[in-house]
Amino acid sequence: MLRLRNIDAFYGKIQALHDVSMDVEHGEIITLIGANGAGKTTTLMCICGIVPPQSGEIYFMEKSIRNMNPHEIVSLGICQVPEGRRIFPFLTVTENLDMGAFLRSDTAEIKKDMDYIYSLFPILAERRHQSGGTLSGGEQQMLAISRAIMSRPRMLLMDEPSLGLAPLFVKQIFHIIRQINEENQTPIFLVEQNANMALKVAHRGYVMENGRIRLADTAANLLENEEIKKAYLGL
Ligand code: ATP
Repeated sequence: MLRLRNIDAFYGKIQALHDVSMDVEHGEIITLIGANGAGKTTTLMCICGIVPPQSGEIYFMEKSIRNMNPHEIVSLGICQVPEGRRIFPFLTVTENLDMGAFLRSDTAEIKKDMDYIYSLFPILAERRHQSGGTLSGGEQQMLAISRAIMSRPRMLLMDEPSLGLAPLFVKQIFHIIRQINEENQTPIFLVEQNANMALKVAHRGYVMENGRIRLADTAANLLENEEIKKAYLGL
């Protein structure tokens, strides 16, 4: 569904990505792991059109999106759950979810999706009239993911969904990522520093170092790889 081919990306004169190629197939969870500053967020920014690649190609469903604006890319169904959660703090939980469905007009289906979200995250149903800013960090992350689902994405991009969350929430968020993928076959591109959890939910993984893809393999093989264990899994 998504293909990156030989992407180079720069911030001014600094080259952040070198010859990056990767694929996400329909129904897959792909994780991109790597240390701080490896280039993971930049890769997502290239896909979203926020940091346009200097060279290389990006195809989504066989169509080049490399020169598209971020809003055109969103309208194709690529939806990013940003790092740092960024929900609307003064809107209620329900209003935040409504914002996710902003481009849709199928009222009955929107209602159905909202019920689905409330079944995935009962805590959000309980807090539906509360403003987003009063939720805990973990609940805000759930809301950010839920708002993305409300747009009925063809593909979900997630930037560090576990960042700063208590271990219990981390477990819950990864469980939900798997559930969304299994129930809707939504392909998910997951950028994570929590390599252990990410590789446990993903089908395949890419390891990035200094802006380059160092390794690509099934998540199961990466979990067993001695180098990866030492460098990223703390084993
Ligand atoms: P993290 O996990 O810390 O978010 P990352 O793997 O997502 O790291 P990027 O944020 O993509 O890494 O950064 C890749 C490189 O690009 C780093 O060397 C970083 O310093 C640099 N960089 C990122 N954003 C900018 C920017 N806005 N201007 C200049 N350099 C940047």
